[in-house]
Amino acid sequence: MRRFGFVLPILLVLSLGAAPAAAPQTPRGFDPANMDTTVSPCADFYQYAVGAWEKRTAIPAEYGKYGVDQEVEARTFSIVKDILDGAAADQSAPKGSERQKVGDFFAAGMDDARIEEEGVRPLEPFLRRIAAIPDRQALAAAIASLQEIGTSAAFRLDVAPDDRNSAVNILQISQAGLGLPDRDYYLKRDTQSKVLRREYVAHVRRMFRLLGDADLVAGRNAQTVMRLETRLARASMTRDETDDPIATYHKMSRTMLAKGAGGFAWDAYFRALGLDGVENLVVRQPAFFRELGRMAQGVPLSEWKTYLRWHLLRATAGYLSSPFEREAFAFNGTTLEGIPTLPSRWKRVLTETDVALGEALGKLYVERAFGPEAKQKALALVANLRAALRARLQRLEWMGEATKAEAIAKLDAMRVKIGYPDVWRDYTTLEIDRRSYANNVLAARSFEFRRGLAKVGKSVDRSEWATTPITNNAFYEPTLNELVFPAGVLQPPYFHPEADDAANYGDIGATIGHEMTHGFDDGGRQYDAQGNLKDWWTAEDSKAFTERAALLVKQFDAYEPIPGMHINGTLTLGENLADLGGLAIAYDAFKLARQGSPAADPQDGFTPEQRFFLSYAETWRFKLRPEFLRGRLVTDEHAPPKYRVLGPLANLPEFASAFRCQPGDAMVRPAADRANIW
Ligand SMILES: [Zn+2]
Repeated sequence: MRRFGFVLPILLVLSLGAAPAAAPQTPRGFDPANMDTTVSPCADFYQYAVGAWEKRTAIPAEYGKYGVDQEVEARTFSIVKDILDGAAADQSAPKGSERQKVGDFFAAGMDDARIEEEGVRPLEPFLRRIAAIPDRQALAAAIASLQEIGTSAAFRLDVAPDDRNSAVNILQISQAGLGLPDRDYYLKRDTQSKVLRREYVAHVRRMFRLLGDADLVAGRNAQTVMRLETRLARASMTRDETDDPIATYHKMSRTMLAKGAGGFAWDAYFRALGLDGVENLVVRQPAFFRELGRMAQGVPLSEWKTYLRWHLLRATAGYLSSPFEREAFAFNGTTLEGIPTLPSRWKRVLTETDVALGEALGKLYVERAFGPEAKQKALALVANLRAALRARLQRLEWMGEATKAEAIAKLDAMRVKIGYPDVWRDYTTLEIDRRSYANNVLAARSFEFRRGLAKVGKSVDRSEWATTPITNNAFYEPTLNELVFPAGVLQPPYFHPEADDAANYGDIGATIGHEMTHGFDDGGRQYDAQGNLKDWWTAEDSKAFTERAALLVKQFDAYEPIPGMHINGTLTLGENLADLGGLAIAYDAFKLARQGSPAADPQDGFTPEQRFFLSYAETWRFKLRPEFLRGRLVTDEHAPPKYRVLGPLANLPEFASAFRCQPGDAMVRPAADRANIW
C-alpha cells in the first residue's frame, strides 16, 4: 500500500475528506512556487522541493494531515457529491436499482433531523440481545453477530486466499478487540501513554453515560472495558511481529482450535455464522486465542456484556444522534489525532457511501470521470516499469541465477488492475431505504460480511476488487500477486495524461514501481508467482537480501520525527524497500521511455532528471498534526511522508548525479551504508 495503510474502520470516516477550495490544476508534476531554493537540494531535498508550500500552508481544522492527497480527494469528492446529490434528488429511480440505493443511502445520511430523532434506537435489538446472554454459548454467538455488523468484538474474522494454497479462500481469525489503535497504547509506561489511557477510560465512561448508565455504573463499566482490553493487548503480537507471514500462519482443524483455545464456545460461534461444516481455518496468533479462551471461561458474563456493549457503541457512534457522534469524534479525532473539527456531514456520508456501496457508486463515477485513454496511458506506464524491473533483476550482482529466474517468473505473472472492475459487484440482496441511516450502515456491513462467508472453501475469484474505484491509493496483494490502481489515484497531480514523462514517471511511475517491488519486499518475497507462501530463494540469496535490507532498517531507526520518538525501521521496512526500489525502477523506466527521443529542454530551469525527482518529492507534500504523527509512528507501516523523500533519495546515485550532490552531503549516504537492492 502506498499511503497511510492502517486505518481503523471507525476512523476511516474521519481520515478522508476534501479541501474546501477547488484543487489547483497543474499539468506538471511539481510547482516551482512550492520550492524553497534558499536550501540546497543536497542538504534537505524535502525542504528544497516543497518548503515554500510547507511555510504558507496551515492544516484546515478538519484534518489530521493535509497535503496532496486532500487535493486529489477534493477533485474526486466534488464529482462524487454531484452524483450523490443527483441520485438523492431523483425519486424516480426504480426500487432496487443501484441509483436508488446510492441515492437513498446518501439522503438518509444527510437527514440529520431524523438521525437526531432516532437517537440510539437502531442499537436496541443488539443491546437487548447482549443483556440477555445466558451462558458461554450465547456469548460466542453474540460475538459472531456483532462481528457481522462491523464491531471489533474480541477478535477479527476474515475470508481470504489461503497463503499456502492461494487458489482457495479460507476462514482466518486474528487478534483484535481493542478500542485503542494498538496494543502498545495499553502497555507503554511513558507519561504520554498513561495520560492517553486515562482519557480513554473517561471517554468510555461518557459513552456509557450517553447510553443511559448512571454515572457510578458508567465509571465502573469503563474500568471493566479497560481491564479486558488490556488482557487482550498483553496477549497480542506487536505490530512488526504481525507483519511476518510465516509467524502468523497456523492452519488448523476445528478440533485443534478447540484444544488450543478451549473455553471459547467455538461450535456455537461457527453455528451462529452458518459455518457448521467448516473444518479448517487459519489462526494468525495462537497465543492470543489461548488467552481469549481463558477469558471466555474465566471472565464473568456480566463483564463480557459490558465489553460487548462498548464495542457495539464504538463501532456505530458515528451514525447515531449528535451526542454520540460528537463524543466519538472528541476522542478518536481530537484526542488521538489532534483534529479540532468534525468534517462536514456530506463528506462523512460520502465516505460511508463509498464503504457501503463502493462499486455502485464507482460505476457512476467512472462513467463520468475515468476514460479509456487514461487506462491506456496507465497500462503503458506499467509495461515500461515492468521492463525496467525485469532488466534490473537480470543484472543484479548479489542474486544467483536460480533465484533470479524465479523472481522474473513472478514479475511476469504479476496481474494488473487499472481503474475499475470488469465485473461489477451485485448488490441485489442489499436493501437500502431512507428510513434509518444507522440501519443502512449495519445492513451494508452485514451484506459485506455475508458475502465474505459465502466464499469460504470456494475458488478465489481473480476478477474481484478489494478496493473501490474512487479510492485514492494503490495496492499490491501478495496472495494474488496482483497490482491494483483504482481510478481515484490515477489523476493529477499523481498522474496526468498530458504531462511530460519526467512528471508522470516521477509521480505515478514511482508508485507503480513501489507496488511492483512489494512483490519482492521482506514480506512479499516469501510468496511465489501464484501467490503461495513458499520459499523460492536459495539460502545464500536470502542472506544477501536480509543483509541489504538491514541497512535500511538501521537508516530509518535513526530518524527521530518527534523528540524521543523514532521511526520503527522494522515495522516500516516493507514500505521503505518499496519506495527505494520503486524510485530506482521508475527512473530506469523514464529513461527507457525517453530512448530515441531528442533530449528535452530544461523547464523552469530544471533538467528532465531533476524534474523527475522534484515531481516525486511533490507527491509527499504533507503537513501532519503532532498527535496524528505520534499515532502513526506506532501503527503505520509507512514512514512519515517527509522521510519517504529523504530516506530513499539519499541512497540513490541517480539522484546525487541529477543535482550534483557530493559525498559528505546530507542527501548522499556513504556507499557502505546504502541499501543497494534492486
Ligand atoms: Zn506500499
